[in-house]
Amino acid sequence: MKEMKTISVKLNKLDKEEYLQLLKEASLLFNYYTTWAYKIKSYNKGQCHKENYFKVQELFPNIKTALVQSIRDNALESVKSRKFKCKQPIKKETSGLRLDKRAITIRGNQVTIIGKSKRHKEILHIPEIHKEIFESWNFKMATLTYQKKKNQFWLNLVFQNPEEVVEKPIKSSQEIVGIDRGLYHLAVTSDRQFFSASETRKQRRKYLHVKKTLQQKGTQSAKRKLKSISGKEKRFMKDVNHCITKSLANNPQYNMFVLEKLTNIRNKRKGKKLNKLLSNWSFYQFEQFLTYKAEALGKQVVYIDPHYTSQKCSNCGDTNKTSRNKSQYKCKSCGYFEHADINASINIKRDYTISIAQLESMEQAKSQLAECEGSCIRSQAPTPLG
Ligand SMILES: [Zn+2]
Repeated sequence: MKEMKTISVKLNKLDKEEYLQLLKEASLLFNYYTTWAYKIKSYNKGQCHKENYFKVQELFPNIKTALVQSIRDNALESVKSRKFKCKQPIKKETSGLRLDKRAITIRGNQVTIIGKSKRHKEILHIPEIHKEIFESWNFKMATLTYQKKKNQFWLNLVFQNPEEVVEKPIKSSQEIVGIDRGLYHLAVTSDRQFFSASETRKQRRKYLHVKKTLQQKGTQSAKRKLKSISGKEKRFMKDVNHCITKSLANNPQYNMFVLEKLTNIRNKRKGKKLNKLLSNWSFYQFEQFLTYKAEALGKQVVYIDPHYTSQKCSNCGDTNKTSRNKSQYKCKSCGYFEHADINASINIKRDYTISIAQLESMEQAKSQLAECEGSCIRSQAPTPLG
């Protein structure tokens, strides 16, 4: 399996009018080809080229040959995928335009895109998170899209991993690691690794304090300062997230990472004050970073429902709110004693392995049932006379 990834980049220097016109004409040409294909019930590229070459030149004199070919292939492929079983594919005026290597080239950070008259050149600003892929993976194709609301053109670049990524089979539950995330420790693993956040906490509290005072001031310069501080804070958290996820993903002992589903974390598990401190994007960023770093190595990130992961005893399964006291977990039922975050991360791992085991036994039961039914039918079938 070769992995593909799409990177979206804003185009800031494009002549918008020219390219809007190009999108429009390209859509008309696309529709021209699909109409032809549906009329004669064929998606053969050679035949299509032969029958339409001169007519297309006459009807669409502004579209360069390389782009004509690209649009033709795209149109015929989308007809082929439907096999005439559903409606003819039709593009709207501002639909995205697929660009293959005939129509777009990338050299270093510079992109060259086919246009109506001459090619458009622009230096791309690749987001930090995508740089690794942009620089080392193979560029395959792109789509030029237009965002009406913001009057903005985007380029979606598709890259392919040059290395075959084989999803590593999980050999034992030891390769699965549960990760509990919180404010006190940004990440705690089920095998007792702590990623402390004391420095982060200090920084964030500082930022929070400064922010509050600035917000109260409310002057222009305070607003400017506020903006610059929030930028600083973001960069700081990003570094921290990069650092932790790198160390986790690269750990050869782990092949699968189990996290709690983010959406419920904020409201259910943490208190009001922590909720305030906790910013959603940094948790989300952690997931994004871990996912792309893990997947590049053929590892997986999976999620579980966060219900009771911090209240449940990882030894006896008893759920009692009062068993957890800040960073300590002492089970009211069996007396088990553990660091609260480790208890939670063990639960996270266990919840996942249990759900997998249940799924497997269900599948097994199903296939046994099917087998039994099959043999029952066979045994009931009348034996042929002879
Ligand atoms: Zn217990």
